Amino acid sequence: MKLSRIFFSNVMSGLRWASFEKYATFNPSPLSLKQLLEFGSKTGSQELSFNFLRNELPVRMANIMKEINHLPENLLQMPSVSLVMSWYEQSFKELLHFEENNTSDKTLTDFTDTLTHIRNRHANVVETMAQGIIELKETYGVDGNTNNRIQYFLDRFYMSRISIRMLINQHTLLFGSQLAHPRHIGCIDPSCNVLDVVQDAYENARFLCDQYYLISPEVDIITKNPLEKESTINMVYVPSHLYHMLFELFKNAMRAVVEHSPPDGDVPKLNVMISKGSEDLTIRLSDVGGGVPRSKVDQLFQYMYSTAPQPDRSGDGSAPLAGYGYGLPLSRLYARYFQGDLVLNSVEGYGTDAVIYLKVLSDEANEHLPVYNKTASKVYETDIPIHDWSSPWSPGGGSASRTYTTWARSLS
Ligand code: ATP
Ligand code: MG
Repeated sequence: MKLSRIFFSNVMSGLRWASFEKYATFNPSPLSLKQLLEFGSKTGSQELSFNFLRNELPVRMANIMKEINHLPENLLQMPSVSLVMSWYEQSFKELLHFEENNTSDKTLTDFTDTLTHIRNRHANVVETMAQGIIELKETYGVDGNTNNRIQYFLDRFYMSRISIRMLINQHTLLFGSQLAHPRHIGCIDPSCNVLDVVQDAYENARFLCDQYYLISPEVDIITKNPLEKESTINMVYVPSHLYHMLFELFKNAMRAVVEHSPPDGDVPKLNVMISKGSEDLTIRLSDVGGGVPRSKVDQLFQYMYSTAPQPDRSGDGSAPLAGYGYGLPLSRLYARYFQGDLVLNSVEGYGTDAVIYLKVLSDEANEHLPVYNKTASKVYETDIPIHDWSSPWSPGGGSASRTYTTWARSLS
């Protein structure tokens, strides 16, 4: 607790520290896709957006910065983590600058520019934070409880980041000089063609797979849309988020089928089923890549869990097919961000179904945001008992879903 106070106070003036404490007491205000869409296409103006964001962004930042207090002290001292924190501190400071400003044209332009700078400054947060955890593991090692706390923190930290970037992107695309796709409202597509995104993600993953293995699987895609009685499936969604999830799932499925096939044999096809119901839009990607044991499935969602060799960073700069162990956990956050989910159903010895669930109704697609409160802080203080069958924390991997439940409850 004290250390990060000391850490932040080195860079924060007393006045700014008081502002930080003040903003951290407010809960973030989640928005639905429908609200974001209506604001962007009908009701919104640059001034309204400015007035909302100059309060909401510091609230979201202060809430997540508060949780940093609960990270192990030796993690806070890692150079990469300090660097990430200094970015947050700097961005928070820049946003405070607009606290009292009037809404002149110049202020509005400065604000949009500041948001663009903030987005660029935070571009490498995920990689840098990951580096900090590698530094911690290499220097001190990490026990099971610390690992669970770090997982819990990272889920919340990255979810907060997704949400902050979403708000920044909406503002800069709607009111800045950056050009959005003509049909899109900011980064939301009111009529996102799911099949197109699936095909796009497949082609790009296939390109990497061909590069790495010199072979790649075909795909069969079927669509089901009984309620609208047409084969095209459209929805309100952020195409870049959907693409991110599908690209990661395709890479995983391709790696599994290629590695599971005999060296000279054919690679079995992947199968995708897209179905639109009244509540859920479901995308199921099935592979026959050998599957994983049931006891391992939760572990696959741990940050940095990977069975792939570490990608060579000194190489030609081409993207690796696998190896960082961030694909699944981050994709699940994207799915959950608008109240969807991502689950893996695996049959050991046969293959895996990866299923993405999204909300069909845009007014049900509310942002799922971490809130800093007593329940959240308690999770960081709880030791996770091992080998207690009745424990809410199941040994090993069970913690991930439990953590999520605790978090979900803390939001209600
Ligand atoms: P990257 O961060 O580059 O995606 P990664 O693929 O190793 O690296 P994840 O996508 O999070 O990381 O997957 C974690 C691990 O889960 C993989 O290394 C692999 O062992 C296992 N896995 C994921 N999807 C499948 C699948 N469809 N079949 C079998 N194993 C899988
Ligand atoms: Mg992967």
